Amino acid sequence: MATATATQRGFAVRCLRCAEETTVRLDVHDVHTFHCSSCDAEFTADDVREELARWGKLLAWLDTAPAIEY
Ligand SMILES: [Zn+2]
Repeated sequence: MATATATQRGFAVRCLRCAEETTVRLDVHDVHTFHCSSCDAEFTADDVREELARWGKLLAWLDTAPAIEY
């Protein structure tokens, strides 16, 4: 029986499609494809890299953006 103190394994990542956490699994037969058990989406490491690159561009812009004054 699982308890609240049970050790959680893996990485706390969110699905690219549905944003559920801890539902993403890696197929040991195809280590380049992730699968979400919540929404059944499949995506690759390159898909994740592209998403991170988009966030990186936003964060880089944010560092240089002037403060908005109200
Ligand atoms: Zn999902």
